[in-house]
Amino acid sequence: MGPLPKNFCGRLDEAGFGRIQVWDFGFRSLQREYARLFFLGAVVAHPLKAARGIRRYRQFIRDNKGGTAGYSRFVSLPDEAVFLERARARGRGPLVGLGFCLKPLDSTDPSRSCPSGRPNHDCLFFERREPRPACSDCAIREIGSRALEAGCPVYIMTSAKDIARDFMLPQIRRGVFPAAALVLCPYSVQVIIPPLLICGVDLLLLPYSAGSCADYEQWLRADRGIKDERTTIDGESKERLLGLLAGLNAGAGAGTRSRRFERRGNVFFPVQKKTGDGPALFNGK
Ligand code: SF4
Repeated sequence: MGPLPKNFCGRLDEAGFGRIQVWDFGFRSLQREYARLFFLGAVVAHPLKAARGIRRYRQFIRDNKGGTAGYSRFVSLPDEAVFLERARARGRGPLVGLGFCLKPLDSTDPSRSCPSGRPNHDCLFFERREPRPACSDCAIREIGSRALEAGCPVYIMTSAKDIARDFMLPQIRRGVFPAAALVLCPYSVQVIIPPLLICGVDLLLLPYSAGSCADYEQWLRADRGIKDERTTIDGESKERLLGLLAGLNAGAGAGTRSRRFERRGNVFFPVQKKTGDGPALFNGK
C-alpha cells in the first residue's frame, strides 16, 4: 500500500466529515490484524448492531459539533448518572480497563517496577495475593481494589487485537461486557468510541494526564508493547472513576461484596468470598 493520505485524512477528522472522526486512524489501520479481526468478527458478523452503533456514533459527533477538544477530557455515553443507573439495574459492574502503561517502571531499581512485567494482562497482586514493593505505588492496584469491592471485572489493556478478542467480540456476540469504564490516552479515547458503540457498550472514558501516546506512530509502538513512559491518571479522572465505583459499591448488599479476583482468560472477575477462603485480598485502601 502506498503512503497514506495523512494530512488529508487528518483534515477530514478535524472537519468531522460525514460525522466521522476516525478517518486517519481508519486508513492507517486498513492492513492491520486488529482491524481485520474487528471488521470480520463484529461488523460483518453483526451488521444490524454495527449499523446501530455507527448511527449512535454519528449522533455523538453531531452533538459534539465536530469538535475534538472533548476527547482530551471525559466521554460518557450515556451520561454518568444514567451509566451508573443502568449498571446498578443490571446488577453487574462495568468492566474497568486500565492500560498496561500504568504499571510502575523504574529503570534504576527493578524492585520498583511491576513484578508481572509490562506489556501483558498479568498482575501478581491480583492473582497470588502477594504484594511487592512496586504494588504500593500502582494505580492498577488502587483502582482494581475499588473495582473489586464494587463487583467490577478488571482488564489490563494491552494491544488493540487483544482488546477486540478479550472484550469487544465477547460483548457483541454474547453481551458479556455491556458497560466499560476505561482509562486510556486521549488519542485512544477518540478512536475507541466507534467500536465500543458498535458493540453496544455503555462507555465512560477517562484520559491519562501524562505519558500518553499523542499520535498514531506512538500508539502503534505501544500497541506492540513498546512503551517507555509510565502513564498517570489525573486527579479529576481518578475522582470520577472512584466516585462511580463508590456509587456501585454503595448500591450492593453487604453480603454480596466480592473479596477476591478469579482470572478467566485475560480478565480478572470478582468472586465472593467462600467459607475457607484465605484473608481478603484487599482491605479497601
Ligand atoms: S499491583 Fe499488579 S500491576 Fe501493579 S505493580 Fe503490583 S503486580 Fe504489577
